[in-house]
Amino acid sequence: MTEPTKILLDEDEIPTHWYNVIADLPEPPPPVLHPGTHEPVGPDDLAPLFPMDLIMQEVSGDRFIEIPEEVREVYRIWRPSPLYRAHRLEKALGTPAKIYYKYEGVSPAGSHKPNTAVPQAFYNAKAGVKRLTTETGAGQWGSALSFACAQFGLQCEVWQVAASFQQKPYRRSMIEAWGATIHSSPSELTEAGRAILAQDPDSPGSLGIAISEAVEAAVQDEDTKYALGSVLNHVLLHQTVIGEEALKQFAKVDATPDVIVGCTGGGSNFAGLFFPFLREKLAGKMDPRIVAVEPSACPSLTKGEYRYDFGDTAGMTPLVKMHTLGHDFVPEPIHAGGLRYHGMAPLISHMYELGLFEATAINQTECFDQAVRFARSEGIIPAPEPTHAIAQTVREAMACKESGEEKVILTALCGHGHFDMAAYDAYFRGELTDFEYPEEKVREAMARVPVIAG
Ligand SMILES: *Cc1c(COP(=O)(O)O)cnc(C)c1O
Repeated sequence: MTEPTKILLDEDEIPTHWYNVIADLPEPPPPVLHPGTHEPVGPDDLAPLFPMDLIMQEVSGDRFIEIPEEVREVYRIWRPSPLYRAHRLEKALGTPAKIYYKYEGVSPAGSHKPNTAVPQAFYNAKAGVKRLTTETGAGQWGSALSFACAQFGLQCEVWQVAASFQQKPYRRSMIEAWGATIHSSPSELTEAGRAILAQDPDSPGSLGIAISEAVEAAVQDEDTKYALGSVLNHVLLHQTVIGEEALKQFAKVDATPDVIVGCTGGGSNFAGLFFPFLREKLAGKMDPRIVAVEPSACPSLTKGEYRYDFGDTAGMTPLVKMHTLGHDFVPEPIHAGGLRYHGMAPLISHMYELGLFEATAINQTECFDQAVRFARSEGIIPAPEPTHAIAQTVREAMACKESGEEKVILTALCGHGHFDMAAYDAYFRGELTDFEYPEEKVREAMARVPVIAG
């Protein structure tokens, strides 16, 4: 009997706990530092921005954290997500490898981001918060959070990078359909926005500026807090539902992965996929090679330096130790909007230093070549971000074809591309350009990154 195409779980198999990988690391990640004093920040320093439940998750050392029943109820809308066996792609490649992908595009917003948006909205509502603010680039995170806020009766206010606000009108419409308010950033509504507009009335904006605006709006109102869609420990924690389900799905077909591949922007979908498998690996139950893939145009893991830097452009956030291209990094206009952040999640950065996974960088034309091959065989049109994971998966599968090895490869298809078709248009017109981010620019940027003693 051939294996099924979709490996499904029942609703009552939605995980009951998130997995906190910090409990199993040989050493904890370095502390987050106050930008002024350079002393470690405590839970109280974060209280103006986040509810205490999320802050405690951010600093927790517990191995498992229970998922509230209210969150599991909302997860039921699309979870458990399917694990696909890519029979058709395997055939198209002529590879003996067995390729599996966990598909997160089945969520209402079309990506993995609601996995954390829902608990973040829940814990804020539980703490009596009335309104959440956030930033969004291409609109994936803004749409996920507005969906989640609608589920818990919270108001939601989104600052979207001006260039995307103009170019991606349908994500904007989704955000409004779920009842949130959306502003083009920089805006006249905040000091940070007004300062930028005074210098440049036509500023195209940046994620760094939009973060400054959303944070400013949150700290000025007692009933308002701020939400972030990647990078932080609690976000990575919430995403582990992906890997926990995939473990159960692999058990159903009596297989274990030899290679796990994920795309990394801030690192959250990759973390969500591999942390539970790493736990099993550290316990000696399997031995997958784990590979992160980033764009050659934004290579924070493969070319960035591991050191303390700011999370935003203006230098208002705490200092975190991470692989960084420098907080004033200006991304090339590649289409994978979700992979254009200057830094990597501090937890992922720390684990990379510990040698727990490998990283590689791929150019966008190779990514779209393989995305189109994927769409024509598997049917699903991937978002620009997971095309990086697909391109590396194809590289691994072609290596198996050379060697004749029947490796089992697992990747995450973390979102569909239905609102990113302009990227495919550019590809079909032959207008996609490859960018190799130069080492010299990393060195230059490091001169503007603060030097922390110790
Ligand atoms: C936001 C986003 C990413 C990048 O974020 P990670 O935290 O690295 O997962 C990747 N893919 C999609 C579809 C996204 O929406």
